[in-house]
Amino acid sequence: MDFAWTPEQGALRDQAREVAADAVARFGRSNDSWINGYSAEFAKELAALGWIGLTWPVEHGGGGRPAVDRLIIGEELIAAGAPIAAMWFADRQMGPALIAFGRPDQQAEFLPGILAGETTWCIGMSEPEAGSDLASLKTSARRDGDEWVINGQKIWTSFAAVADYCYLIGRTSSDGPPHQGISEIIVPMSTPGIEVRPITDMTTNRHFCEVFFTDVRVPITNLVGVEGNAFKQTMRQLEHERGGIDRLVSNQALFRLAAERADTADPLTRQEIAALETAYRVGRILVVREVLHQAPAGFSAATKCFCTEHEQRVADFLGRVYGAEATLWNDVSRGIVYAPGYTIMGGTSNVMRNILGERVLGLPREPR
Ligand SMILES: Cc1cc2nc3c(=O)[nH]c(=O)nc-3n(C[C@H](O)[C@H](O)[C@H](O)COP(=O)(O)OP(=O)(O)OC[C@H]3O[C@@H](n4cnc5c(N)ncnc54)[C@H](O)[C@@H]3O)c2cc1C
Repeated sequence: MDFAWTPEQGALRDQAREVAADAVARFGRSNDSWINGYSAEFAKELAALGWIGLTWPVEHGGGGRPAVDRLIIGEELIAAGAPIAAMWFADRQMGPALIAFGRPDQQAEFLPGILAGETTWCIGMSEPEAGSDLASLKTSARRDGDEWVINGQKIWTSFAAVADYCYLIGRTSSDGPPHQGISEIIVPMSTPGIEVRPITDMTTNRHFCEVFFTDVRVPITNLVGVEGNAFKQTMRQLEHERGGIDRLVSNQALFRLAAERADTADPLTRQEIAALETAYRVGRILVVREVLHQAPAGFSAATKCFCTEHEQRVADFLGRVYGAEATLWNDVSRGIVYAPGYTIMGGTSNVMRNILGERVLGLPREPR
């Protein structure tokens, strides 16, 4: 196996590096920029480059390019901290979900806006009483004639305050096992009855929101895929979400800064840098395997676990290198206090280990 990029891939990486540096110079740098760096303007520029929907099939308006090209671009943009959050969720998840499960009229209505970098989507999954256990969610979508009537509350909904659409997971039935009664519904955020309350986290980021739905009415045709099938559809989406380069590279810029500043005369520090550099490369191989569909089904849970735990070890290293200075309010301290989130978002490490044990290794399930 040759791990080097081809000359064409190398040229794409160089181009992405330039685009990223230019974007950071104009819009600023963010830690974990696929979730914290929002620029509607930059999303349109990425669309003009053909970098949104790069790997989607050509018949759906995508670029039809290999998944490795998206990895190369994503790694450079996120490593530099370029603000890609306005397009990333939809490029990674909503577009592929609509291509896999949506009807042709839904694809025609929603994909062009994503591809043009003109629409931002948020993911309405988690609730105050339902995070890891998605099947316990309570937000209801009750059918009334030609409409769904939605009531309930979501939380931790990144970008709900600026999103055009919410990809909502709601309960359409209470009969039968809980995971069989949930469905995926597209909810335009301009619909009356939606109240969004931003939450400021301790790093002062404000992408999180609480979203309250009170008698929100959307057409019945906004259901994506099969009614009651959200659990299976969402698990497929989460495979897209968990195994990507965004789970590894988010604080690479801070790692480079710290490695330059570290006291490399100290053998323990040298060993730590070598261990982190090694882990990054191992994580990258895991991501490449996911991207090339060479990993076993469900293995993205292990990839996510390994990669995001690496990101936390980078944050610990930053703390040791910067010492007392890390208590000042700057990029480094923000990177450190942000780090616990890496192993929570997209599924916690505990839950990833359960998936690995049960689905990949076939270990017995704990009796419930
Ligand atoms: C930065 C960030 C961005 C996010 N963005 C979004 C978003 O855009 N949209 C959205 O819907 N959600 C979002 N989330 C929410 C995220 O998906 C949830 O926080 C996550 O799924 C965990 O759910 P919870 O917080 O309710 O924790 P819980 O599920 O209550 O878990 C609490 C603890 O119990 C453990 N635990 C739970 N179940 C098990 C089990 N079966 N076995 C072993 N241990 C278990 C967990 O590991 C954890 O330690 C985001 C979170 C973060 C940090």
